[in-house]
Amino acid sequence: MPIATVNPATGETVRTFEPLDAAGVEARIAAAHSAFRSWRETDFGTRARLMEAAAALLDKEQDDIARTMTTEMGKTLAAARAEAAKCAKAMRWYAERAEGLLADEQPQAADVEDSGAARAYVRYRPLGVVLAVMPWNFPLWQVVRFAAPALMAGNTGLLKHASNVPQTALYLGELFHRAGFPEGCFQTLLVGSGAIEGVLRDPRVAAATLTGSEGAGRAVASVAGDEVKKTVLELGGSDPFVVMPSAAADLDRAVQVAVTARVQNNGQSCIAAKRFIVHADVYDDFAERFTRAMSALRVGDPTTPSTDVGPLATEQGRADLEELVEDALSQGAEALCGARRPKALPPGWYYEPTVLGQVTEAMRIHREEAFGPVATLYRVRDLDEAVALANDTPFGLSSNVWTTDEEEQRRFAAELQAGGVFFNGMTASHPALPFGGVKRSGYGRELSGHGIREFCNVTTVWYG
Ligand code: NDP
Repeated sequence: MPIATVNPATGETVRTFEPLDAAGVEARIAAAHSAFRSWRETDFGTRARLMEAAAALLDKEQDDIARTMTTEMGKTLAAARAEAAKCAKAMRWYAERAEGLLADEQPQAADVEDSGAARAYVRYRPLGVVLAVMPWNFPLWQVVRFAAPALMAGNTGLLKHASNVPQTALYLGELFHRAGFPEGCFQTLLVGSGAIEGVLRDPRVAAATLTGSEGAGRAVASVAGDEVKKTVLELGGSDPFVVMPSAAADLDRAVQVAVTARVQNNGQSCIAAKRFIVHADVYDDFAERFTRAMSALRVGDPTTPSTDVGPLATEQGRADLEELVEDALSQGAEALCGARRPKALPPGWYYEPTVLGQVTEAMRIHREEAFGPVATLYRVRDLDEAVALANDTPFGLSSNVWTTDEEEQRRFAAELQAGGVFFNGMTASHPALPFGGVKRSGYGRELSGHGIREFCNVTTVWYG
C-alpha cells in the first residue's frame, strides 16, 4: 500500500510520501532507545508539564489537524474536532493521574510475613521502547490513548501509523517534540507494514501495541510471541445492541442512540453497534423507526456542516462492505433501506446507510465485522435467545443493552462475552474506564490504570 493522502471524498491523491529507508529506521530505533535511558529517570512532574504542553498545542491547532484528518480519511469535520478535543482531555487526565496510578503498592505486612520479608512493595517501572501499529479510523485518538499513558509511565514510543494517514502521523511525531519532549521520546516511522517485523525483532524494542484488523493483529502478535515480547491487541468488533421490552418506555431515545452508535465515524468504528438484537414485543416498532431514521441521514461531503455520514476511508473498504451486503442479499436478507451507493454524489467512496433484516447464520455479515454504515436486525423471543445471539460471534469487544429491568441487567452483565456492557447508552471510550476486548477482539486493556500498567515491569521489591 503506498504511503499517501488520498481524499476519500473525491478519490484524488493529494500527496505521496517516500517510506523511510533502512538507515532512517535504524536511526529512529537508536534514538528511541537512547531517549529511554534518560526519560525513564524523569519525575512525574516533568512528564506532566510536557504532556500538558502537548495538550495545549493540540487544542490550539484543533482546526488544522481536524481538516487534515477529514482530508485523509473522510470523517466529518465536527467528528474530527471532537476527536482532537478528546485527545487533549486524555493527555491531561494522564498528566494529572499517572503518578497516583503508578504509585508503589504496599501489601499488608501480615500478608507477606511468611515470605520472610521485613518489608516488600510493588513498583511499576517502564518497559522501554514500545512500537505502536495504528489504524486510520481514529487517527489521533488511537495513537494518543497509547502515547499519553506510555510516555507518562516513562516509556518511549515508535509509531507505525496506517499508510493512508501519513500527514496525521507526521503531525503526531512533531507534536510531542514541539511540546518539549526530549528527542527520541516519540517518533513516527513512515514505513509500510512489511518493515514491522524487523522493527519488532530488534532487541532495543521491548513491546508492541496494535489496533486494527485481526490479520494485522495476528501477524504482529506472532512475531512478538516468537520474540517473547509483550503485546496489547485491540482488534475488530461486531458489538450487539440489544433492545428489551422495557425500552419501549422511551423507544425514540433507543432508536436515536442506535443510529449514532451504528454510523459514528461513517460506520468505521470497532465499538460501533453492528448487530441490533430486538425483542419480539418491540421489534416491529423499533425496526420501523430505526429504518426511517437511518434513511433520513444526510450522506455527503464531510466538510459540509449538515453532513451526517461522509465517505468510507478507502475504496477497498467500500468494496469489502459491498461484498458483505451482496452476500447477505443473495442468501435472502432483506434490504430495509440503503444497500447501494448514493446516486447524486461526486466521485468518492460513499455508501448509503443500510439496514438488513432476515439475516441468518449462513451469511458472512453474521460473523464478520461490517466496517461501514450497515446494520443487521434480528428478532428474538426472550433474554436467553438475546444473550445467545449476542455471544454468537468471534468478537467480544463491547455490547449495548437497552433495559430498565434490574434482573435482566444483572444477567446481561454476567453473561455477555465482551470487554464492556453498556446499559441504556452507547459504548464510548473514556480515559477513566478500561477499554479492550476478549475472543478475537484482542487482549489487554487501554486507558485507566489498567492501560498505563500494560507497558510496565511490575516489580516486586523484597527486603529480608
Ligand atoms: P489493517 O489492520 O490492515 O491496518 C491497521 C494497521 O496495521 C496499519 O498501520 C497497517 O499498516 C498495519 N498492518 C496491516 N497489516 C500488517 C501486518 N501484516 N504486519 C504489521 N502491520 C500491519 O486495517 P485495514 O485498513 O486494512 O482495515 C481492514 C479491516 O480492519 C476493517 O474492515 C476492520 O474490520 C478492521 N479495522 C479495525 C479497526 C479497529 O479500530 N479495531 C481499525 C481499522 C480497521 P498499513 O496501513 O501500512 O497496511
